[in-house]
Amino acid sequence: MLHLGCHLSISKGFLHIGKEAKSIGADTFQFFTRNPQGGQAKNWAKDDVAAYLDFARENRFVNIVAHAPYTLNPCADNQRTLEFAEMCMQDDLQRLSVLPGAYYNFHPGSHVGQGIEVGVEKTAGLLNKIISKEQKNLVLIETMSGKGSEIGATFEQIAEIINKVKNNDKLGVCLDTCHVFAGGYDIANQPEEVLKHFDEIIGLDRLYAVHLNDSLMPFNSHKDRHAKIGEGEIGAGALVKFVAYSEIVRLPIILETPNDLAGYANEIAFLKNATQRNS
Ligand code: FE
Ligand code: FE
Ligand code: ZN
Repeated sequence: MLHLGCHLSISKGFLHIGKEAKSIGADTFQFFTRNPQGGQAKNWAKDDVAAYLDFARENRFVNIVAHAPYTLNPCADNQRTLEFAEMCMQDDLQRLSVLPGAYYNFHPGSHVGQGIEVGVEKTAGLLNKIISKEQKNLVLIETMSGKGSEIGATFEQIAEIINKVKNNDKLGVCLDTCHVFAGGYDIANQPEEVLKHFDEIIGLDRLYAVHLNDSLMPFNSHKDRHAKIGEGEIGAGALVKFVAYSEIVRLPIILETPNDLAGYANEIAFLKNATQRNS
């Protein structure tokens, strides 16, 4: 059975989000850890978190995904931005510790002209500062499309970051289907080869979550524009085939498609039906 969810807002709390997710047939979800515009994030209400954890247990939710703000650049070229990234990630991980099993997904950053080598080095350096042996929440590096000076668009770069991190048993990867396709991995036509390549370079045991999106932009375009399932260049058939692989079907799969709640409910129902039909 697939574990599906979508990106939701935590503005009304965790129990609310849990119920919202359940109402659309989801057993996982993703949320932003804080307002992307920065500023101090407020602590989550203890009683709400406790009520959510009960609800999630009763409804057999799988691991959920906390997404770091997009505005955070772990390999920036100036100290201030780097310190902000460190502060954010440190604080997010601290707050996340009340949600056991929640993954902390982040974008490895943009090197803004410093070069990929430096970008990889700085991102790994930041991870070495914020990851501790004791922490319970895994940190996931998201695969990127390579727009602008983004790092993390090749499996090699992601593997290099992982190899440079000391406590890398706390590190994993979240594969975004739109990003890898736009980044030059043809999951529309050669999904098996892409997974095999991922396994050789990073290791499929490092893969903990999937962002399931169609891509408005063509293969290898290095542009990041999500489309609804079946309304992009990857296509519904290929995405259905992709989620059904044994390496993927066990993971939390998060939709980040341009949808409202009803639209997400439709996509979740579609994916469940389509994979049941194929199996
Ligand atoms: Fe993302
Ligand atoms: Fe994503
Ligand atoms: Zn994206």
